[in-house]
Amino acid sequence: MAIRMGEGELHVFFFPFMAQGHMIPILDMAKLFASRGVKATIITTPLNQPVFSKAVEKYAQLGFQIQIRLLQFPGVDVGLPESCQRLDQIPSDDGLPRFFNACEMLQEPLEQILRELRPDCLVADIFFPWATEAAAKFDIPRLIFHGCSYLAMCATDSLETHKPFNDVSSDSQLFTIPNLPHELKLTRLQVSPFERSKVETPFTDILKRISESEETSYGEIFNSFYELEPDYAEQYKNVLGRRAWSVGPLSLYNRDVEDKAQRGKKSSIDELKCLEWLDSKNPHSVVYICFGSVANFAPSQLQELALGIEDSGLDFVWVIRNKSEEDNGSEKWMPGGFEERTKGKGLIIRGWAPQVLILDHPAIGAFVTHCGWNSIQEGVCAGVPMVTWPLFAEQFVNEKLMTDILQTGIGVGSKEWKLSDNDGVKREAIAEAIKKVMISEESEAMRNRAKTMKDKARKAIEEGGSSYLDFNSLLDELRAYPAKH
Ligand code: UDP
Repeated sequence: MAIRMGEGELHVFFFPFMAQGHMIPILDMAKLFASRGVKATIITTPLNQPVFSKAVEKYAQLGFQIQIRLLQFPGVDVGLPESCQRLDQIPSDDGLPRFFNACEMLQEPLEQILRELRPDCLVADIFFPWATEAAAKFDIPRLIFHGCSYLAMCATDSLETHKPFNDVSSDSQLFTIPNLPHELKLTRLQVSPFERSKVETPFTDILKRISESEETSYGEIFNSFYELEPDYAEQYKNVLGRRAWSVGPLSLYNRDVEDKAQRGKKSSIDELKCLEWLDSKNPHSVVYICFGSVANFAPSQLQELALGIEDSGLDFVWVIRNKSEEDNGSEKWMPGGFEERTKGKGLIIRGWAPQVLILDHPAIGAFVTHCGWNSIQEGVCAGVPMVTWPLFAEQFVNEKLMTDILQTGIGVGSKEWKLSDNDGVKREAIAEAIKKVMISEESEAMRNRAKTMKDKARKAIEEGGSSYLDFNSLLDELRAYPAKH
């Protein structure tokens, strides 16, 4: 990456929500800005510093202007353990509202560093609606980072406006999400309870404030690229009237093995050993199975997954990262003899995998994913078709992009939006979906479509590509922002 100098230096703050799925793309985004001559300051809390520190040190040494500023996290003040500074560390579901309260207490310390450093722009996470007000005090434009797709934003808007889930007679009856460019169907059970519930929840207030901050912020920045979801980028900007820029896919800014391997956490496996194992396999012959950084299955579901993988008969890399496992590591659900029977065929990674490195390996033929937006894009960038298994957040809508719109994915038949202890998908359905993607009549066509999208993703960030140009226009606007002069 060459530094373009002499463009009028900007200083941008990046403040991600403390969850891997938000910090990882924001780090990539900060690196992108820094590579274009912008001074980038990442704001985070002390226990999350390691997510950023290695990359920041490396890029600073290369001559880019990139740094970290820390804010003390007041989790203890709201009854959270001192060690809990990240979404996946929250002890139980009722810890989540407390976590949001603690985040809110960061407004004042944020204002202090805004006052001190006076950046030209604050890119702050959607879950920090109060950041717009903080930035406004210093006439600093605030950009929202959602960490999700345009499709998800359009679908959420439609669900909120039309509430089509109220017009069906049962939880499992399909309805069409109104006013979208494609006919996409969900059931009531696949919509988040916070969205479909008529009663107030601990999240009603924060969701309302998030909506308000979308109206009052300067604009929104997406980790997406035009060619991936053109109809939804158009709808979001031209029909819903939102100011938005696409700068993705951000994971593509990690070009060497070291950058691809060190994202979020240190891998639980030696990266080179992992690559060696994949090198010993034929192209497109291995299924990669990973469900992001927070998903949590019921033990019975993990057992069913193991049996489904085995039934498929295919080689696999399986990342097991389950909260209860982290607690006691007993893996009582693991079918007896599973590891012996799949020796040589399977690589189990317990903990954290170097996901982008694995996905980019030619041996990978399919990605079994929970449809987190980062995982979807990383799979798209690798040109790998997907077995879709959405669990919560906006994952059920992301699934539709793969299965219905791009047709580079087959679903396992996930039926219910649930934050944890997900269950209910049978081994037969898992094996069938894996085989359909990997070794059926449809496989080759699906792989070709995935490869076309991979090429488009790469072109989007190259000079003259859609994300490259969108990013340029964002920088031009920020340079021209009145407060600068
Ligand atoms: N990730 C990883 N190794 C793992 C699990 C996850 O590197 O073992 C990364 C993955 O590459 C992605 C992020 O963590 O960048 C997860 O984000 P996503 O939006 O897919 O899911 P979330 O964790 O937010 O549910």
